[in-house]
Amino acid sequence: MTEKLITNVSILDGTGTEPFAGHVHVRGNRIVAVGRDIAPDATDAEIVDGGGATLMPGLIDSHAHLSFLDAPNLEDINSLSAERHTLETVKNARKLLDHGYTAMFSGSSARDDLEVAIRDAINAGDIPGPRLKAATRQMTVTGGFGDIGLDDAYSLVLDGPDAFRAACRKAARAGVDVFKIVPSAPGSGPDPLAEDTAMSDDEVAAVCEVARQRNRMVAAHARSAEAVKMCVRNGVQMVYHATLADEEAKDMLEAAKDEVFVAPAMGLPYGRLTEGEKYGVSTSDYVRARAEKEIEVVSETMADLRKRGIRVLPGGDYGFKWNPHGRNARDLQMFVDLFGFSPLEAIQAATEAGGELMGLAGELGVITEGALADILLVDGDPSKDIAILQDPDRFLAIMKDGEFNKPFRGGSSQQQVAAE
Ligand SMILES: [Zn+2]
Repeated sequence: MTEKLITNVSILDGTGTEPFAGHVHVRGNRIVAVGRDIAPDATDAEIVDGGGATLMPGLIDSHAHLSFLDAPNLEDINSLSAERHTLETVKNARKLLDHGYTAMFSGSSARDDLEVAIRDAINAGDIPGPRLKAATRQMTVTGGFGDIGLDDAYSLVLDGPDAFRAACRKAARAGVDVFKIVPSAPGSGPDPLAEDTAMSDDEVAAVCEVARQRNRMVAAHARSAEAVKMCVRNGVQMVYHATLADEEAKDMLEAAKDEVFVAPAMGLPYGRLTEGEKYGVSTSDYVRARAEKEIEVVSETMADLRKRGIRVLPGGDYGFKWNPHGRNARDLQMFVDLFGFSPLEAIQAATEAGGELMGLAGELGVITEGALADILLVDGDPSKDIAILQDPDRFLAIMKDGEFNKPFRGGSSQQQVAAE
């Protein structure tokens, strides 16, 4: 079994603890020791001198779409052949790992079996990529969000509990980890944020029933207050957006906070406003105003949910032209700038809490004895400047499951000076 002793690092352990100087001992795919003292010199382990870099857990994204190919719109998500689509998704898996993401929880696959195939190829060591919770296509209802009237669409259109039950059973048979549903849909009327509740309670209940029977998870696009409540009532574990959550919805989330996660997934409106031009996407005044309003409303909601102790996780629908893969760590910046998280809290949400979402509480997303060795060596201190995590050049090394996917390439001269 290979052993590595990573010395001379500032450890940011993912639990919210302030960084501390020390060393980390990795054997096989596990962290076997985390020391605050001087590293032992009598060891058979390969010594990696971190040169004063920050050592932290790999990042975890809670709302990923690895098989969305930076599409300009929903109609184009499945514009390639399934074969080409799969090959392009392989590239995204590598790209995300190169950007420090060692685990991702999917917010839906573009094609039924695509993410399962990618996950299995990653786990077999055939292709590089993050640990992946593979999802279904998003399951919506006739006329619901994502029903775009195409046969080969990124959504599966179903009506009635029996249809949802059958689709979930089929997905479980295919090896999917996450059932993705779309309980809410854009509303009509003058309020640009108005949202309808499009799925019925018995449909959501049917999905959650199969999930319990087959030990799967359920993730939901839930923007209306009623959609959020429907999710909590029925045991959905991952509530996306929660845009219009009212007091009752927030109380219900709080009462279920040990079971439920929330991800605002604001990458799309935020990306449009801040980086749309850079990616050649024009934005009308109406869309701009709606995005601004959404950011305002969601920021207030997420700040409240955070205070209530609900696990709010970064992950923001990356995979569109104006919100492309690789920009994912911008979500942590939004947590700090908009939702009142400290950088340490944002990092904890993207690591320790992400590990809980991945079903590996205390084993993934933390630098502690016994944890899985998903480790980043970072040039600089992200607990001081969260923006560092958006620059892949700052990752001096990326380890997943005990193996360096990006071999250590030494610290910057600045760090070496600091370390002396
Ligand atoms: Zn999404």
